[in-house]
Amino acid sequence: MPQTKHSPSPFGGGQNRICAVAACQTAGEMAQQIPIGLRETATVELRLDWLRSDSEREKLLRWLGKQKFRGARFLATCRRRAAGGEFGGDIQAELFWLMEARRAGCEWCDVEVETERELPDQSIREYAVPPRVMLSLHDFERTPKLPESVSCPPCGEVDVVKIATSAKTISDSVRLLRLARRSRCFVAVPMGEIGFPGRLLALREGSALAYAPIGEATAPGQVGLRELKHLYRAHLLTRRTEVYGVIGDPIRHSLSPLMHNTGFVARKQNAVYLPFLVHDLKDFLGTIPDFGVCGFSVTIPHKEKILKYLADCDRLAADIGAVNTVVVRRNGSLYGLNTDYVGVLGALERRMKLRASRVLVFGAGGSARAAAFALARAGSQVFICSRRNSAAKELARAVEGEAIPRRALRSENFDAILNATPVGMHPRENETPLSLQELRCDLVMDLIYRPLQTKLLKLAKQKGIATVSGLDMFLAQGFAQWEIWMETKPPEAAMRRAVLRKLQSG
Ligand code: NAP
Repeated sequence: MPQTKHSPSPFGGGQNRICAVAACQTAGEMAQQIPIGLRETATVELRLDWLRSDSEREKLLRWLGKQKFRGARFLATCRRRAAGGEFGGDIQAELFWLMEARRAGCEWCDVEVETERELPDQSIREYAVPPRVMLSLHDFERTPKLPESVSCPPCGEVDVVKIATSAKTISDSVRLLRLARRSRCFVAVPMGEIGFPGRLLALREGSALAYAPIGEATAPGQVGLRELKHLYRAHLLTRRTEVYGVIGDPIRHSLSPLMHNTGFVARKQNAVYLPFLVHDLKDFLGTIPDFGVCGFSVTIPHKEKILKYLADCDRLAADIGAVNTVVVRRNGSLYGLNTDYVGVLGALERRMKLRASRVLVFGAGGSARAAAFALARAGSQVFICSRRNSAAKELARAVEGEAIPRRALRSENFDAILNATPVGMHPRENETPLSLQELRCDLVMDLIYRPLQTKLLKLAKQKGIATVSGLDMFLAQGFAQWEIWMETKPPEAAMRRAVLRKLQSG
């Protein structure tokens, strides 16, 4: 992809291109958020429309007028409901609050096209709103046909144009990024969870700003300010940054971005790892050159479907019939591997002797296949039980194991039982794939790692059975991926600490 020289952002360079969004119901809460935002960036958007009443808006702006935040650049927004905001007033009221914001020291304001079109006096410059104006267009439904490029003349009506559209596909967000690359004084915001990778990479494509909430994320796909800056390092990403990621559906629960980005930060690697919510595999694969993806992890439901798009595949992954790791070669072709296999072995070998052991794998999907192959190759006698007996039989045949019916679990004994179904996974933590009576073994491993202690593991503990959570497997498969992509050993301790801390914090 051609390198584009971008015009400097009117918001300044470096971290100031990250815009911290203060959005609260009361002036008191907002006044607490603002200094937190200013620790990370000088650019703060004040969502005046989020404040629950005019008296809260008045209180906030009176407070702001008395503060002395050196170098801070405030952007006032009072978006009406008609334009997708929270403000119940009309255009006159919106303009009133923007003018008050100027008196309180705001240098910028965000005016929606819906307001600009209906201005009684035609030009926003006729009003004493903050001197620098961002004209914003939002489409909360879709990403419509976009113009070739956008630019604001130096002495024009507005200083910056923002287009924020809902990304329904990954390629929607790529269209917005291409526009950012060709435009001047432009802000690109692909909205929604699918749009997140684009939202994050917008800065390196020339977008003048990337937004992040100071408080908790308030919409799917949003990532908090500290995470955007310190984990994803949005303001430091360039076209030289290697992009990795995980594709899946759903993907929000994945801890892989936390694990890999923690590793990149610890090793000062110029690389970033992004969560791609992928409904349509082909759509994602078409965007690899635009994003500059060098490699990606694959999770539910794409581990098996990805095989047909690979130019080549590791022998073991082909035997397993599932790929969880892809390397994008220099010529753009894809090479697949399976590190779930390494993960299962890494987690179990330390706890039991696998050779000649009797191990039951419950489930017959992608991870069950990796586990069954790993166990069979380590010399275990493998039993498969699955709700679809045909799938159990097929996997049992592939690993020279035995398919057994569910009713047999109340009488058969095993050295270990592995759950390879999603039953009990967050948020359905009250479910268990197997009952107490079916746990006739010395060790139970749940491949699920969120929560750390699944209901299944709690039942096993009740019965005095040793337990292994999916965390060890998750870490081991992730370390193996890192080594494949980076060709060096990962900072395991830092990555483990970050994931554990997150899981323990709930
Ligand atoms: P998958 O390919 O979709 O397979 C899921 C399996 O579970 C299938 O056999 C499915 O049966 C069965 N299943 C689904 N719902 C069930 C239910 N209600 N009752 C009984 N069986 C049910 O998924 P996967 O990739 O193998 O992942 C399975 C689990 O392992 C997930 O929770 C995943 O998070 C976890 N995992 C963890 C790691 C780790 O590193 N710790 C790695 C990979 C996966 P049908 O075919 O009949 O639908």
